[in-house]
This record gives sequence, C-alpha cells and structure tokens, in this order.
Amino acid sequence: MDTMTKTVYQLPFTGIKQYKMFINNEWVDSASSQTFDSVNPFTGEVWAQAPLGDKEDIDRAVQAAKAAFETGEWSRYTGAQRAALLRKLGDLIGEHAEELAISEVADNGKLIREMLGQMKSLPGWCYYFAGLADKVHGESIPIDIPNMINYTVREPLGVVGAIVPWNSPLLLTLFKLCPALAAGNTMVIKPSEVTPASLLELAVLIEKAGFPPGVVNIVTGYGQTAGDALSKHPDVRKVAFTGSSATGKLIIKNSAEQFARVSLELGGKSPNIIFDDADLSNAVNGVLAGIFAASGQTCMAGSRVLVHDSIYDEFVERLVERTSRIKLGNPLDMESEMGTVAFEGQHEKVLRYIRIGQEEGATLLYGGKRPMTPELKNGFFVEPTIFGDVRNDMRIAQEEIFGPVVCLIRFRDEEEALQIANDTQFGLAAAVWTKDVQRAHRMAGKINAGTVWINNYRKVSYASPFGGYKASGIGRENGIQAMHEYTQVKSVWVDTGSVIT
Ligand code: NAD
Repeated sequence: MDTMTKTVYQLPFTGIKQYKMFINNEWVDSASSQTFDSVNPFTGEVWAQAPLGDKEDIDRAVQAAKAAFETGEWSRYTGAQRAALLRKLGDLIGEHAEELAISEVADNGKLIREMLGQMKSLPGWCYYFAGLADKVHGESIPIDIPNMINYTVREPLGVVGAIVPWNSPLLLTLFKLCPALAAGNTMVIKPSEVTPASLLELAVLIEKAGFPPGVVNIVTGYGQTAGDALSKHPDVRKVAFTGSSATGKLIIKNSAEQFARVSLELGGKSPNIIFDDADLSNAVNGVLAGIFAASGQTCMAGSRVLVHDSIYDEFVERLVERTSRIKLGNPLDMESEMGTVAFEGQHEKVLRYIRIGQEEGATLLYGGKRPMTPELKNGFFVEPTIFGDVRNDMRIAQEEIFGPVVCLIRFRDEEEALQIANDTQFGLAAAVWTKDVQRAHRMAGKINAGTVWINNYRKVSYASPFGGYKASGIGRENGIQAMHEYTQVKSVWVDTGSVIT
C-alpha cells in the first residue's frame, strides 16, 4: 500500500445516471419504455437506471446483428480490417480504464484497486484477438480419390448471443466479444440486471472505434425475459454464456430448439491444496487471493482449502492472523482491501450459508457476520469468513457460496487429497502448493479441472484456454482455441478430372 497514492475515487456525476441501450449503433429506450434500477452495494442507494429490455428489444437487436452479418458493411470486411477495429477498441478501453472501473465498482462493489488493474489488462484481449483475425484459415487435405482436391475453410457462425454475469462484466464480455468479432461474427450482448452500466459504457467506445451498425448490440434487462428470449432466438447461431450452473442448464435447453452452439462458463468449488512441504507464507497469500479477492465472488474462487494434517494448526494460525488484518471499506477507496458483495440477495445468500456451516458442525474460526460499524453498516458487507474442520460432504463444501467464505479440510496423504479434490460436481480450477515437482505434476494430471495452478492461484491470460470440467462448463474461452469456438468448418471438394465419373 505504501507505494500507492491514497485516493478515494468518486462517481463523475451526481444524481441518478440514466442509460440507454445500444442497438444498430443507436441509443434507444426499451420498447416498453420501462427501466430498472442499479443499486450501489456500498451505499444501498440507486445510482443508475437502464432500459428494461424484453423479447421485442432482443428481436430488434438480433435482426440488426443478422443484417450486419449477412449484407452489411461488416460482411465484406477482411480479417485485417476487423483487426484494426479491435485494436482501436483496445486503445479506447485503455484510455477510459478509470471510468470503466468506477462504473463497475458502483454496480458491484468490487475494489477500485482491483478493477483498475483488471481494466488495464482488457486491451490485451483486443490486441491478442486482433492478431488472430487475419489468421483464421483452413487446411488442404490429401484425399485418396483420383482427381480430387479437398480443402477446408473456417467461417464465422453468424449472430452470437452473449449472456454475462455481474462479477466481472467487462472482462467476461471481452472473453467472448474479441474472438467472436475477430472471426467475423456479429453480437447481441445481455449484461446482468445487477450490473448494466459498464457494458453500456463499453458501447460508447464501440461506437467511437467505428464498428459498423449492428455488429455489436447491447440489450439490458432481466434474465428470465431478455436472457431467455436471446437464448431461444431462432436467428442466434451460438449462445456464449457465463453464469451459474443452474442457468447454464436452461441455456442448453433453450438453444437446443434451434441447434445453436453453446459455450458455458459456470460455477466452481475449486480446491486449493497445501502440502506439508509448501512455502507456507506464499500458500497463505495464495489462499487469501483465491477466496477473498472480489469478496469471493469469482467463479474460480479457491473456496475449499485442503491442508495436510501435519501443518494444519500452523496454517490456520497464519491464515486467521492475516485475515484479521484485511481492511473492509469503501470500494472506491484505494486503501480498502475488501469490498461488499454485489447485491442484497447475494448478501442474504452468503449469510445463510454461514448459518448452514455452523449448523452442519463446522468450526467458525473467523468472521461470519455483517459488520455494523457506521462506515460499513449500509453496505452489503460480509466479514471474511473461515470455517475449520469442514468435511467434504457438508453443504458448505459442495455448494457454490460465491462469497468470502473459505472451508478448511484436512488430508493425510496425496491420495486422499486427490480424492477430496475431485469429489465435487464442479471442475473449474485447482491449485497445488508443494516444492516436490514430481508430485505437483502428478496432481495436475489427475485433478479433474480445466485449470490447475502450481504454487500460484488465479492467473488468467487471453493466450491460455479457460473453462470447466463437469458442471463447471462446456467449451473454452481465450487462446487460439477460442477462435475455433466462434467458427465452423466448411469442406470444399474440387474435381480436376476432365470427365466426371
Ligand atoms: P446467473 O446464472 O444468475 O446469471 C448470469 C446471466 O444469465 C445474467 O445476465 C442473467 O440475467 C442471465 N439469466 C438468468 N436467468 C436466465 C434465463 N432463464 N435465461 C437466460 N438468461 C438468464 O449468474 P450470476 O449470479 O449473474 O453469476 C454468478 C455465477 O456465474 C456463479 O455461479 C459463478 O461461478 C458464475 N461465473 C462463472 C465464470 C466462469 O468463467 N466459469 C465466471 C464468472 C462467473
């Protein structure tokens, strides 16, 4: 903290900000003219209102995206032209990182110091996928039939519907938008009703970058109405979804009606495994970052910490001591170390799970309450919470809490650690802390999860595929593989013989 400037950021306006949606490069109200509120989880007050988009608005946006894909200017763009626009968008996001970060903090209560860092990383997604936009190519395939040439081309899918959650709206949108546009698709994006603002701020930059009308459309509204209509729309060729596993199941059912492709990035209950030879101070830091960053509201949260029996007591002592120094506070204050949870319903859910943990017989080692100091009492804060002596069959170890609650589980040997780690419906991420390089790779090979970190937690890059095993998802985002998720392969046959037989 010493090197940071001590600043409390402010919203750049007073009163309630009124947003419009972005369809076909026009700023519009919803067809019903209704709006919904976004509540600042630190003050508990409404700070913004966005149009309440519905089926009719989704349809309008999909038609705009379809026209842009089929006959609009965009349909004639080369990969290099699409890349140039993505690079421009990356530059603009970099220039406006601070405003974007503030709008996300006002919507979801994450820390400004965390969000400033995240926003500054976003241009990297635009630049990486811009670099791939003109390298989407097929293959020439040797065929065992005389006079035949066969080659493949990779083509975009068409209209992509993106549905995103509230915990990292911009980052999770760029996971989809960058490869989708680089490959030549068009998009309709529906942000979470909890966090409509930052995507509408992004739309300002999309317009400024010069994307033609209909290429990117943003419709705000509720999941059960606007989200449902988007995932069912007959002209949507792919639904790219990030959210809960329960909603993910509905998305698959909806999109099956028109055989649209689906990618799902869902929940997790990721194991963070500490062996007895681990560097304990690094491991404690990794556990703190794994569970208390974003107040535990990340899909990859290291919410189950598996600790070797022989170091359990020392680990607990260090973790509790370090946790007791976490400073909760105004998320817009650079000195705060943990913000709120995102909204009232989520706050109630987290506190409910803490009661469940106590009823199940886990030992509450730290936290567990809503802080009621004058500065914090209006915000949806939950103390960083540590449960010890957790059994893996308890609900708090099996169900995603999505809050600052960590479960400590003992293990005796590698085999038991692996058994506990994999005993979950989820499979998003995991970490192994050990100095034994052979054991580290053995564990990485056997853990059923889409990402495994060794002696680290949370690293993500546009260059590396990210996604889940089991109930944590289908498909991968990021990396070259993401381009395959947004393209389809056509096989072309050429007969070079003079007489067709
Ligand atoms: P959610 O499933 O409630 O909502 C996600 C989005 O789906 C929102 O935009 C919502 O409006 C929409 N939606 C809700 N019901 C819908 C329906 N019936 N039809 C269509 N759309 C609908 O999830 P959330 O509470 O916003 O986000 C938290 C969840 O997201 C957690 O489970 C978390 O693990 C997961 N998540 C996963 C990743 C990942 O990459 N794997 C990243 C972040 C969050």
